[in-house]
Amino acid sequence: MSEQRTVTIIGAGIIGLCCARALQRRGRTVTVIDPNEPGRGTSYGNAGILAAGSVLPEGHPGLWKRLPGLLLDRTGPLTIRPGYLPQMLPWLLRFMASTTPGRVEEISKALAAIVMPGVQHYLDLLDDVAADQVPIRRQGCLYLYPKREDVKAAEPANDARRRRGVEIETLGPDEVRQLIPAIGPDMAGGALATQSGHATSPLALSQLLAAQIEAAGGSFIRAKAMGFTIGAEGPSHVRTDQGEIEVEDVVIAAGAFSKPLAAALGNKVPLDTERGYHMMLPQPEIEIRVPMLISSLGFGVTPMNDGLRLAGTVEFGGLKAPPDYNRAQILLDHAKRLFPGLGDEGAVPWMGHRPSMPDSLPVISRSSRFSRVFYAFGHGHLGLSLGAVTGRMIADLVQDRVSDIDPTPYRADRF
Ligand SMILES: Cc1cc2nc3c(=O)[nH]c(=O)nc-3n(C[C@H](O)[C@H](O)[C@H](O)COP(=O)(O)OP(=O)(O)OC[C@H]3O[C@@H](n4cnc5c(N)ncnc54)[C@H](O)[C@@H]3O)c2cc1C
Repeated sequence: MSEQRTVTIIGAGIIGLCCARALQRRGRTVTVIDPNEPGRGTSYGNAGILAAGSVLPEGHPGLWKRLPGLLLDRTGPLTIRPGYLPQMLPWLLRFMASTTPGRVEEISKALAAIVMPGVQHYLDLLDDVAADQVPIRRQGCLYLYPKREDVKAAEPANDARRRRGVEIETLGPDEVRQLIPAIGPDMAGGALATQSGHATSPLALSQLLAAQIEAAGGSFIRAKAMGFTIGAEGPSHVRTDQGEIEVEDVVIAAGAFSKPLAAALGNKVPLDTERGYHMMLPQPEIEIRVPMLISSLGFGVTPMNDGLRLAGTVEFGGLKAPPDYNRAQILLDHAKRLFPGLGDEGAVPWMGHRPSMPDSLPVISRSSRFSRVFYAFGHGHLGLSLGAVTGRMIADLVQDRVSDIDPTPYRADRF
């Protein structure tokens, strides 16, 4: 009987779409509710990296010593909007509490379990699509070190990654230059995470999933969820700006906007947003074939179908403040120093809201209050990497199947 219940997914970002497609492939009827076109939220503008090497949390021991310097640097990778600090403080305190060596070890294990198989889960989810139609490449991801001190500073992180099973090849300056001939003199070395991949268009990936869902009979409703009508067994209707919609099983996948929806369904979660920016360069004038992450500057450089994308930086500023496109300009300035031939004609800036939990782990969970309500949000810096794996875990939870990944670390009530 429960196998016939329709699953309503709220949010058509990469996470909601992967959940919908995974459930549909297991025989469920799915309805996806979103006021916008699929894949146009944060999932549109990310760096596109399927980061199999990202097994370390954002917070690490000793970070607090660097924090004041990072915040004071106007062109640095981190900033807080004036006035947002008091609102952000509870999240920041939880973030700092996650940086003890013991917690970092636990979080890193939990991240490795979901992030490392991320590329393969996409290929499995899309195995009914011709390979040349899937906008994913598996060419690894280069960690680029502009300065000598970056090479030294990266060693402990790369050792920790290797301990988790991440394959990392250390590259000297000549090897980096062979891989990226357009690189300028500001470069001291690199490391290649060979198991990583990238999306050549994150939007095309979402659109492909949406087309698959529709072709198999799933429906999309353009509406914004505002709340729920609760019946004897849980939510019976979702209240939207277009009226009430009857629901059976429900998955909340509204990215950074999931907090009030989860609260209405039984879980107060410390979800906030780390805003991020990109600068899209349709005519970069240089060729870059491998995506790269420049941790010291807090951004990635990714070759995409429609140009070169510079994406990253963290701005704490909440969901409502308007974008500060200077942050995107800073990415361009850094990139021009790294790649002296870089062209910026027609450059387009963008801002999006990472849905961030303070411990760098997503919420992939059943509601504490209602057994037929599920959560898939809070993927922070790694939502693209974790889309397909989240879809599979949610499908397991909805079907009451034991997952091959232990879902305990991602529970909504872990705080
Ligand atoms: C600059 C930048 C670079 C990044 N780079 C990478 C990267 O290289 N690799 C990686 O893995 N991750 C990266 N990320 C993170 C990744 O983009 C996010 O984690 C991911 O997109 C989150 O997906 P989502 O589906 O949860 O959210 P979204 O894509 O934001 O989707 C949420 C959807 O919910 C809808 N919604 C909101 N409220 C409601 C409501 N009330 N009712 C109905 N629908 C609603 C929205 O319209 C939206 O379509 C990056 C993020 C940024 C900002």
